[in-house]
Amino acid sequence: MKETASLYKEMGISEKVLSFGAQVEAELKERFDAIEENVEYNQMKVLRAMQKNRVEAACFAATSGYGYNDLGRDKLEEVYADVFHTEAALVRPQIACGTHALAVALSGNLRPGDELFSPVGKPYDTLEEVIGIRPSTGSLAEYGVTYRQVDLLEDGSFDYPAIEKALNEKTRLVTIQRSKGYQTRPTLSVKRIGELIAFIKERKPDVICMVDNCYGEFVERIEPTDVGADLCVGSLIKNPGGGLAPIGGYIAGKEEYVERAAYRLTSPGLGKEVGASLGVMTSFYQGLFLAPTVVGGALKGAIFAANIYEKLGFPVVPNGSESRHDIIQAVTLGPPEGVIAFCKGIQAAAPVDSYVTPEPWAMPGYDSDVIMAAGAFVQGSSIELSADGPIKPPYAVYFQGGLTWQHAKFGILMSLQKLYEAGIVKL
Ligand SMILES: *Cc1c(COP(=O)(O)O)cnc(C)c1O
Repeated sequence: MKETASLYKEMGISEKVLSFGAQVEAELKERFDAIEENVEYNQMKVLRAMQKNRVEAACFAATSGYGYNDLGRDKLEEVYADVFHTEAALVRPQIACGTHALAVALSGNLRPGDELFSPVGKPYDTLEEVIGIRPSTGSLAEYGVTYRQVDLLEDGSFDYPAIEKALNEKTRLVTIQRSKGYQTRPTLSVKRIGELIAFIKERKPDVICMVDNCYGEFVERIEPTDVGADLCVGSLIKNPGGGLAPIGGYIAGKEEYVERAAYRLTSPGLGKEVGASLGVMTSFYQGLFLAPTVVGGALKGAIFAANIYEKLGFPVVPNGSESRHDIIQAVTLGPPEGVIAFCKGIQAAAPVDSYVTPEPWAMPGYDSDVIMAAGAFVQGSSIELSADGPIKPPYAVYFQGGLTWQHAKFGILMSLQKLYEAGIVKL
């Protein structure tokens, strides 16, 4: 321990910050043990799926061109289908990001005249343009797909009467976002998603229930497809890529709906049959294999941060003791200098670009300056330790990820160190 402490010191963490962190960490033993148990369960789930599908060295061979008969690609999709307990899955490097995966699932399964319905309020920012809530070229609205939304109630619960009323003969697909994303509503547990789906299916059995699972994979032992979701969609540069996937997204669910998405991703008539894997399959398999452990480390980091900053009097969402359903942690740091200091700490702790000083900047799509901290191996990867904060009230910073618990811990200690040096916190 003494050796580690002196290394921390050498890397810029003062004794006060280190001992405060140690005190908080000591109180989290039980919660961390519970996370480890989930990691163990999910590791076995992934391993079982790989063994059942007889993953072999030939799966890692690169294909090019059309990518016909890509054994590794096809087998990986079966592995994903087994992990998510679904009939089928589409897992491709041609899916550019999470937004693209969601757009493919939506546009593949909606037709002109259909209505898309969100019973959990406004979806993630980038989805607004996919749907056409904000007018956008190529949106679903341009193709004659209408959209309806029912907000969560003040206390975060579902507005069942309004949901019942919103369902109509045009409703074709219901989209449910698991993570709060960068909003203040609570993240939905898989159990609550199941209750919502049951309510909807009781009233309209033929509706497709899709869950935006971004940031949620492997946080619990079950996934939305275990509680009735017909489609579950996410990004491989978040949880299920385990930090190793350099690109990609997945869509898991009922065969019919996954097929329709595949016809949209490539082309009608071609579907899943084409799409070369170009040598990324090893990282997809290995990333999925590591994902439960990586998500466990990120969760420990989020809980550690919540408890550190809660103890210092800052509002944190989720709070230090609530159960977790995604890996995002929000901390309201009061003055803008707090947000800036926090992000500087996360950056200074990174394995890549640690010498860079992040500054608030105007960003497309944001109505205020934003500061972002990330020193990632994969550009924009948010399963790696990263933080961002819009420079506007309430001056909250959102952070997530960490490929290892030890790195997440160091990042949080470094953020505290910067806040301490700036005189924003007293220890
Ligand atoms: C990240 C995210 C997305 C979009 O994913 P990108 O990879 O950034 O396009 C969609 N929904 C939620 C809830 C997310 O967290």
